[in-house]
Amino acid sequence: MFLSLRGVTKRFGSLVAVDHVDLDLTEGEFVCFLGPSGCGKTTLLRLIAGLETLDDGEVLLEGTDLAGLPARKRNFGVVFQSYSLFPNMTVAKNIAYGLECRKWPEAKIEARVAEMLELVHLSTDAGKYPHELSGGMQQRVALARALAPEPAVLLLDEPLSALDAKVRESLRGEISELQKRLGITTIMVTHDQDEAMEMADRIVALNRGRIEQVGSAEELYWDPATRFVGEFIGRINMLSSPDLCAGLDKTAGETVLAIRPEHIVVADRGAHSGTVRNVAFLGNIMRLGVEAGGQDLEIEVHGRRKRMRVGDTVTFDLPADRV
Ligand code: ATP
Repeated sequence: MFLSLRGVTKRFGSLVAVDHVDLDLTEGEFVCFLGPSGCGKTTLLRLIAGLETLDDGEVLLEGTDLAGLPARKRNFGVVFQSYSLFPNMTVAKNIAYGLECRKWPEAKIEARVAEMLELVHLSTDAGKYPHELSGGMQQRVALARALAPEPAVLLLDEPLSALDAKVRESLRGEISELQKRLGITTIMVTHDQDEAMEMADRIVALNRGRIEQVGSAEELYWDPATRFVGEFIGRINMLSSPDLCAGLDKTAGETVLAIRPEHIVVADRGAHSGTVRNVAFLGNIMRLGVEAGGQDLEIEVHGRRKRMRVGDTVTFDLPADRV
């Protein structure tokens, strides 16, 4: 295994921020740590980077325990949310800095900086200072700086969350493409499920310092292992109403029934009916808030021309194979 976490644990006082995390990464994989604020994803990334010390467990790179190896000796490239470029250095100097610290020969540094600038499409901005660049450009410099020393692993801590939506979307594609082209093992922390689903080979869903599920976006979406994952990845209706659950023969033991809003089928002769409480028209999708069987449901209707209104009665089916 390329990178392994074994029982990784971190406590802050009585709070267990990261709780016995086991995870294996293969070389070249792109993994996202996904979870709500405070679930421990940044702490876990910092433990891998060597920016925090473990209370328990181990981090192994190709079988070697990294305990005692400080961050600067781990050969991991790290990019933070806040760019953290050196403001008094040009773009080229920022990228060269890590190579100078590692005592690379001057000619090699120059060639590597030029290569990195080209990689992130900033060749014409080499002489500029960070304050002369947009947020997206600064983050590309930070990426180039992290990649320059040929790190074994790239660690990205919410690298896109400070950017506006358009820039974020284009950088998502750019980072993914770069990661595939270089084949560099990458871990990215995010709380944005769309980002994780679009970019990651595998998603690690974290909650309260523990892994709830590890899998592809499709696996987490179609087969959530826990209620938390079902609710966090995409939208979901928990079915509590006895009326709605009647006939859905799955109610044994601890089972919880749930259905995605887009899987509820609005049909004139549907088995259930409800009252529309709110309507959001989003172009290709109409999102309805519906009260049915004494509970609230979210229903997503696709490609329907006729607009529904608050107070309308809607009839629908809950297909058993989608519940
Ligand atoms: P966010 O997206 O908000 O950054 P996160 O999932 O990255 O959240 P962490 O930053 O890893 O979460 O924090 C996990 C828990 O550990 C939180 O409850 C946080 O308050 C706590 N924590 C993190 N760093 C420290 C610290 N240095 N001292 C004390 N508590 C900390």
